[in-house]
Amino acid sequence: MKSQNPFTLEIEFSHEEMSDQAVSDALYRADIAFQDWRWRSFEDRAVVLNKAADLLDERRDRLAEIATREMGKRLSEAVSEVEKCAWVCRHYAEHAQAYLSDDQRDSDKDESYVRYFPLGVILAVMPWNFPFWQVFRFAAPTLMAGNVGLLKHASNVPQCAVEIERIFTDAGAPRGVFTTLMIGSSKVADVIANPVVKATSVTGSGPAGSAVAAQSGDEVKPSLLELGGSDPFIVMPSADIEKAVTTAVTARMINNGQSCIAAKRFIAHADIFDDFRDRFVEKVAAMKMGDPMKDGTDMGPLATQDIRNELAEQVEKSVKAGAKVLVGGGKGEMDGHFYQPTILTDIPDNSPAATEEFFGPVALLFKADSAQHAIVIANDSKFGLASSVWTTEPAEQDLFINRIEAGSTFVNSMSASDPRLPFGGIKVSGYGRELSREGILAFVNAKTIGIT
Ligand code: NAP
Repeated sequence: MKSQNPFTLEIEFSHEEMSDQAVSDALYRADIAFQDWRWRSFEDRAVVLNKAADLLDERRDRLAEIATREMGKRLSEAVSEVEKCAWVCRHYAEHAQAYLSDDQRDSDKDESYVRYFPLGVILAVMPWNFPFWQVFRFAAPTLMAGNVGLLKHASNVPQCAVEIERIFTDAGAPRGVFTTLMIGSSKVADVIANPVVKATSVTGSGPAGSAVAAQSGDEVKPSLLELGGSDPFIVMPSADIEKAVTTAVTARMINNGQSCIAAKRFIAHADIFDDFRDRFVEKVAAMKMGDPMKDGTDMGPLATQDIRNELAEQVEKSVKAGAKVLVGGGKGEMDGHFYQPTILTDIPDNSPAATEEFFGPVALLFKADSAQHAIVIANDSKFGLASSVWTTEPAEQDLFINRIEAGSTFVNSMSASDPRLPFGGIKVSGYGRELSREGILAFVNAKTIGIT
């Protein structure tokens, strides 16, 4: 497991993969830890989660620097990410008990209700793009529900993986309550097959999600999938165009373009298309690529060479098929895994730009003749993660909310996750929900109680 700085290209850290025996020992310890942790009170567990939040605040700058050096996100974004992790820990420390309180139901019994119990050891397979947030988004509700967590993090962010386990340990979580498994993806199937593991959660690409879900299905273990997206961002004539354009740039270019819920397909109504396009091009063309550690950089490198090359190939194939480059469209002159902030338009059906997720700073611009047409374009995708629509017309807002096939619709703002709101997708973007009450219900036994 290696971390290569995607800006300097230096190998900064490496870690041996765990042996099979070490993995099996870790699973055993996790199971033992669960037998105690599950019966701890919510107050006891909240002490650990609140302490983890305090440590995230204290270590914020160092952790942010590690994320930037491992995967290239701009330092200011890494700082915000660590702050958000503290928020999700505090959110569940405060609300878990209420989210999981007994749920009274009417029936022919004298008394009936649902009581929630933890499942046990839960395996999380996580990606590198938000190397702290994705993990804490899983860990905070999972641990507060009384489960224990195993993390198989992406192989290119081993330092983040080590730091996360350290935070829980230093926060007072008993040994085995949260464990980082330093393993590559080829060892995941064996972990899932171990009887100690009771469920899986994957955030990552479609192939990783399918593999883990299939292996979990074979073992009759539930899985939760947060996969890719190609989210629509629809702009109608009534919208505040300047605000929509500014937000469009942020929504597409956040995290150097590597966010699952980044807006990726921009669908502007014909009446304002030219205006939206020109302002969008102007702002994207002004973005400055550079050192992600420095203030003033708008776009850092992509996390790995493979990711950058895959994106370059997708753009090349789309352009060959007839797409037009409005700005960017190449790797640029800098060392490091850079790709220029780019906008493509005139996108042909069946080209990669129309059908695939572009996991980097490339915006795909479409023209719609009407709200109905915008919905057709938005839904013409195998993905269904989030969506953002810009209109002040109540009837149009309602139409988009009802018709867009996605796990969320944000009106006049960009899609963003929030511990208070459920998060997840439909279609090949996955299934299940994280965050809010739905997130903590992901890995519990909702036990029906009937008393006569
Ligand atoms: P990835 O290649 O799928 O890797 C994600 C994790 O899955 C890594 O830990 C990886 O391990 C592991 N993995 C890969 N193949 C596997 C297999 N066959 N069996 C078991 N584990 C496997 O994805 P990524 O490139 O890191 O992340 C980018 C993708 O994640 C994008 O599609 C993005 O949209 C999606 N994503 C979705 C969300 C969401 O919330 N919906 C959030 C963030 C990212 P190794 O590193 O060891 O290969």
